[in-house]
Amino acid sequence: MHIKHHGAINGVTGSCHELGLEDGSSLLIDCGLFQGAEAGADGAGAAHLEIGFDVAPVRALVLTHVHIDHCGRLPYLLAAGYRGPILCSPASSELLPLVLEDALEIGVTRNRKLIEQVLAVVKERTIALPYGQWHQVTDKLRIRLQPAGHILGSAYVECDVHDSDKGMRSAMDGSGDKSGRRVVFSGDLGAPDTPLLPGPQPPERADVLVLESTYGDHNHQDCSARVERLRAAIEHALADGGTVLIPAFSIGRTQELLYELEELFHQLGETAATWRDLQIVLDSPLAADFTRGYQRLRKHWDAEAKSRIRQGRHPLAFEQLITVDTHDAHQRMVNYLAHSRQPAVVIAASGMCAGGRMVNYLKAMLGDPRHDVLFVGYQAAGTPGRDIQRYGPRGGYVMLDGERHDIRAQIHAIGGYSAHADQRNLIDFVKDIPAPPQEIRLVHGDTDAKAALRDALRQELPTGSTQVLIPGRER
Ligand SMILES: [Zn+2]
Repeated sequence: MHIKHHGAINGVTGSCHELGLEDGSSLLIDCGLFQGAEAGADGAGAAHLEIGFDVAPVRALVLTHVHIDHCGRLPYLLAAGYRGPILCSPASSELLPLVLEDALEIGVTRNRKLIEQVLAVVKERTIALPYGQWHQVTDKLRIRLQPAGHILGSAYVECDVHDSDKGMRSAMDGSGDKSGRRVVFSGDLGAPDTPLLPGPQPPERADVLVLESTYGDHNHQDCSARVERLRAAIEHALADGGTVLIPAFSIGRTQELLYELEELFHQLGETAATWRDLQIVLDSPLAADFTRGYQRLRKHWDAEAKSRIRQGRHPLAFEQLITVDTHDAHQRMVNYLAHSRQPAVVIAASGMCAGGRMVNYLKAMLGDPRHDVLFVGYQAAGTPGRDIQRYGPRGGYVMLDGERHDIRAQIHAIGGYSAHADQRNLIDFVKDIPAPPQEIRLVHGDTDAKAALRDALRQELPTGSTQVLIPGRER
């Protein structure tokens, strides 16, 4: 048994891992897009998305969740000749076609017929696998999904490998275990206090754990501090008729934000008259589709969210919420908010400002101190979002579509929204596995985050129990 990492090794995008068995077959876990300057093995990167590895051995593809940095290269995998099944949770299987349709339209082709052909193939090959249920992939491999608490439908993957184990490290010796090896791929893990979704439970067993480390060097603000900062940014907008721009992934973060905005309206709407003037603009047909998907799939919500429904509240749909659909309406909204004194919150993609409708708002508003940009997610190196976050507070500039834009708007960041576990959550996830894993491989994080998490894990796990590795590029 061996593991190859085709992506998410030098950053947080392009997730794609291959679990190879001795009989030459393999399982692929995720097949995501790269963003910004990040690159993977085989020369893959944002500008080169073709699959560079051999797909012939791959018996099945498992998708941990439907963020494009985990599933966006699926059309390229099909183009490379992959013919096997696509395994994911039932909620992911409902959301996947929406994500792919959008990714194909933006990045690949406007040809409707071609897009529909790809989607038809994806639907036909998708197997919806409920949480907690084993699925036999080959006679030597079975897998099971467990809730990861990151976005709706997200899962971590448990793999039971019944190989002959030649060539494996001797750490197995003496364990008396004859049931093979358990390899767990974390996908993206949510934080316990992620709005709407229950937090992930640790696996009952993991001999090898491939663990994300996005926030491996960081602990989030607690939930109440996060809501306070959201409220402060909105109050600035209310005071001077500005707009709060929130770049967000359409799935996950957008719904979390709507959920917490509804809570703010619920708390303040009655008493603070000015809040009634505020408009919340969801400028993304895709995000609106997903929000409907989240509402449809409410049986997966956590207890708090369900109790709001019982109180007659509508956690993801409220009076002040406006959805912008067509591109013309979008342009009108950009002009209106840039030139009026209507206080507003705009939620639009892309989450890292690397394209999408958010870029038009930034071009129109970054130069005006009335406005605020509020980052709620991780900004990868080489993306405009990273530059705005870094240079904005010092009065710097950002290049958008080849043009320089000075930043006079106020820039804020709230870490706790990003639906990722922080360092403490990641360590707890590992420590709550009844027996420490023999090997942990850290992926999906910047260099500093991985190193900090490795050091923290080495400190907190029993001495000598676990080898913590940071895989590099493999050829
Ligand atoms: Zn994700």
